[in-house]
Parts: sequence; structure tokens; C-alpha cells
Amino acid sequence: MSVPTKLYEGKAKIIYLTDDPEILLAVFKDDATAFNAQKRGTIPEKGRINNSISSKLFQFLEARGIRTHFIDTPAANQMRIRAVKILPLEVVVRNIAAGSLCQQTGLPLGTVLKMPLVDFYYKNDQLGDPLLTRDRLLLMELATPEQVDSITHLALKINDFLKELFQRCNIILVDFKLEFGLDSQQQLLLADEISPDTCRLWDMSAGDDPNLRVLDKDRFRRDLGNVEDAYQEVLKRILNEL
Ligand code: UDP
Repeated sequence: MSVPTKLYEGKAKIIYLTDDPEILLAVFKDDATAFNAQKRGTIPEKGRINNSISSKLFQFLEARGIRTHFIDTPAANQMRIRAVKILPLEVVVRNIAAGSLCQQTGLPLGTVLKMPLVDFYYKNDQLGDPLLTRDRLLLMELATPEQVDSITHLALKINDFLKELFQRCNIILVDFKLEFGLDSQQQLLLADEISPDTCRLWDMSAGDDPNLRVLDKDRFRRDLGNVEDAYQEVLKRILNEL
């Protein structure tokens, strides 16, 4: 068999071409990075766990009418996906104040937001993924006004579905990052991944202890230990519900 052609290698995944130009293969890596790749490491089994979680969540969302790039899971750390042109935006939905929202607004960690907040960031490592305003996003033609409206609407719907699912898992969905892409028909699809790498997830059964409750990449960012255990726990609870 010929060696597959690598299209792109990111921090957490490698994307390969397949025989079909409409289909790509994503291979999830165990590599972990944080703080714009200034901190690097490995989380054993992360590739398999995040692929499993993402695959389950994409199928869960598809069943609720959200179009995603997910096709199937041919191996534990592999996902076949529809080829899309990724919009250079990180779309963050927040339910509870944490991370950069606390740093930039002074809101105390854990503040419950009255309404979910949708923040757009420019996906650009050189600039450090800066926060965008809607006007700046349009000025730079990163998306059309219609696409911004559709993305905002979709992001809030996805938040409603995921919040309810995680609640059943006894997990609080604090915030998460989404990426969207356009397929060959210019249709907007949810892309990338949804995993403990891209979400903040707090264990409701761990009380208010700010370290014990963390079930996501903050364990790696903040050297809290037991990172793999936390990721496994999220997968276990999702598999119990789906
Ligand atoms: N996030 C992500 N990739 C990024 C930046 C953020 O997946 O490049 C996720 C992060 O894990 C968290 C949410 O988006 O769940 C909000 O992150 P925030 O803006 O608070 O930034 P951070 O504190 O991670 O710097």
C-alpha cells in the first residue's frame, strides 16, 4: 500500500489525503501543547480518547440536525472527515467565566454567565490568536456577515445540546472552542474536534475544589497531574450516556 500523503500537521492532529478528494483522514496525536505551543508534552492515549470523544459528540450533534465534517472512525485514533476549507476563526462559547475571560474582564473564576457568550478569535499563531470584534472580523473578510450569523446561531445550539449532555454526565460545560469549514458546495460544517483539549469541563461531583474538579486540558496547562485519568473519565461518562 502506498504511503498516504500528508496534507497538514497541526498540534494535535495530522490530516492525510485519501483516494477521494472530498474525504480526508484525521489522525489524532498524543502530543499536547499549551500557551501557543510554548509548553509541550505528551498525554498517553490522548489521540484515541479524543478521537473517541469527538466522534461520539459529532454523531450526537448530527442526530440533532447539526451538520459536521464527521464521516466515521476507521481506527481508534483516526477519523474520516469531509474535506472543508477551515475558516480562520476560533469560536469560543462560554457558560462560566474562566481562562482568558477572567484575565481580560476581571470577572471572578466560576462566575455563572447570565447568557452564553460567543467570542471570535483570529486563528493566527503569529499574532497569538487575538480576540476579534464582529467589525474587525468583517473588515478582514474572515467570514461574510451571513456566515457570522449562522456560526453564532449554530454555536449557541451546539452549546444547548452539549450542556445538557454533559449535565447528564455530571459535568459542567464551562466553555469550549469550535471551528467551522466550508465544503465544496460552500455549506457550513462543524469541523476540527470537540474534546477535553478544546473544552473546559468541571466534575460536578468534585465540589468547588478548583483543582480536583478539572477534567480537561487545564490539568496539563497547570501541571495538576492525572491528565490521562481525567480524559478517560470524560470518555467513560459520555459512553455511559450515548
Ligand atoms: N481553546 C482551544 N484552543 C485555543 C484557545 C482556546 O481549544 O487555541 C479552548 C480552551 O480549551 C477553553 C476555551 O477555548 O475551553 C476558552 O479558552 P480561553 O479563551 O479562556 O483561553 P485560555 O484560557 O485557554 O488561554
